[in-house]
Amino acid sequence: MTSERIALLRQKMAEQNLPALLVTQTLNRRYVSGFSGSAGILFITEDKALLLTDFRYVERAAEEAPDCEIMEVDGSLAPMLPDLMSEAGADKVGFESAYVPYAEYKAWRGKIGASALSPVLGLVEGLRSVKSQEEAALIRQAVRISDGAYGHLKEYLRPGMTEKQVAWELEVWMRTHGADDIAFDIIVASGPNGARPHALASDREIGEGEPITVDMGAAVRGYNSDLTRTFCLGHADDQFCKVFDITLRAQEAAERFIKPGVAGKDADAVARDIIKAAGHGEQFGHGLGHGVGMAVHESPGMGPKAVAALAPGNIVTVEPGIYIAGWGGVRIEDMVLVTESGVEVLTQAAKDRVIPVK
Ligand code: ZN
Ligand code: ZN
Repeated sequence: MTSERIALLRQKMAEQNLPALLVTQTLNRRYVSGFSGSAGILFITEDKALLLTDFRYVERAAEEAPDCEIMEVDGSLAPMLPDLMSEAGADKVGFESAYVPYAEYKAWRGKIGASALSPVLGLVEGLRSVKSQEEAALIRQAVRISDGAYGHLKEYLRPGMTEKQVAWELEVWMRTHGADDIAFDIIVASGPNGARPHALASDREIGEGEPITVDMGAAVRGYNSDLTRTFCLGHADDQFCKVFDITLRAQEAAERFIKPGVAGKDADAVARDIIKAAGHGEQFGHGLGHGVGMAVHESPGMGPKAVAALAPGNIVTVEPGIYIAGWGGVRIEDMVLVTESGVEVLTQAAKDRVIPVK
């Protein structure tokens, strides 16, 4: 699996005239090599794939990264860089400019000069954005777990429970139903708290008839899910129903629109136009969605500035929202897999307006 990824990466390097590349970002390093440790650098050339890591990880690296040659290092890469470059016959090396600390860059520059260091952006991320069958299978598993947690919530939730209590119950449920971890801190936002897209679960008690937004994800062998549902407990008033229906309409229209070749920003516009036309344009203050995989937020982008065309194998969220200060908010989030002709909606959790009080 990693040998294919290394081959694809070499192809991309050739397209950019890069004889060598340093991969330092943790998830990118893991994606290319299989090595899941917290420290290490990949040095990739046309015929070499070298994983440099320290004493703590040498054994694990050899086990997890069978397509890489493992080299033990002590401290900075800088002193070794001139030799690595000349052995590879490389006059230039790419580095992930968004992830290299300036002090590290300076040390490298001191050894091989600024002109030999070529900043790259989004190279491995581009490969990661197209999921293989194996990756999609892990994501499907993570999606099933968060869907299951939502189903459990419908049985469990009672008025008077605090947001934190509910968040903890969801976390425990996911961890005891196959998740290795939760994907991110679970959001449970009730009443006016729902007006903050990334509210933290608080000690607030959840009341009957209030909008409640739950946003959660499961992690399975390094791959994540991301699910949001908003509903009212017991009964919903007219305003909630109106805002809910606009949001759902925007989401469904975007899901119908997405297919290979469509840019993220165009999908965003489809949802945004519906919300704008309903008079809530100002209250949809974030992008339509994002790619999901080893990171909860990754390529491809799905916001108003996302110009890249979607491709089969992309897995993205579609999550329009309307947030009204002082009242609350509604966000509905699915994950979809881009297919040859459109999308497969992976998320199966029901889109309930109301969850009855038990
Ligand atoms: Zn989410
Ligand atoms: Zn999301």
